[in-house]
Amino acid sequence: MPLRLTPPLKRRLTRRAQAMIGRALPYFPELRGKSITVGYTRKHLGSASIRYRKGLIVELVIRLRVRRLTYQTIGHELTHLVQGLARGDRRAVSSLHGENIPSGEKQCDLWTLARDQIFCDDAPTYLRLPRIMRERWPDYAEGVRALCRAAIEKRKSHRRYIRWLEEEIKKLAPASAAEKTAPAQLSLPFPA
Ligand SMILES: [Zn+2]
Repeated sequence: MPLRLTPPLKRRLTRRAQAMIGRALPYFPELRGKSITVGYTRKHLGSASIRYRKGLIVELVIRLRVRRLTYQTIGHELTHLVQGLARGDRRAVSSLHGENIPSGEKQCDLWTLARDQIFCDDAPTYLRLPRIMRERWPDYAEGVRALCRAAIEKRKSHRRYIRWLEEEIKKLAPASAAEKTAPAQLSLPFPA
């Protein structure tokens, strides 16, 4: 798909970050064939916006803070574009499971994690997670992703599927933490 990199981004873009963006895009068939502008931001992890002219989408923009870039962030911003497309030109959208992704930050996190394991390289920003999960995210990524996928199913019959998801995520913490107890000589001198 046509990608335009803004000059401020180009100045900061590392080979690694560029490869990550290129690798992430094909996971978003909804954006296929659309021109996407990738810019730079220093304020947040990233941002996304859609520019319209006379009701038509003229530009899809994501901005990334290149430093310590994760697939989670790239995926989150691309998911925002898909959310935006669903509100705009509906005919152009054929999103995951044939359904639109609802708007909202938690929804964005949920659908990003559910989309593919590649986007689970860092903890989501907006979904409520027990602290231990943020500290040991790699131990929980797979379990949380499975719950996100379940939550998308749940949404068909439950309006409060986000609350359901966060409750289920909370339940995941103690059991997994117990399973993954580190050998004594490696344990830290303070409670986790
Ligand atoms: Zn967001």
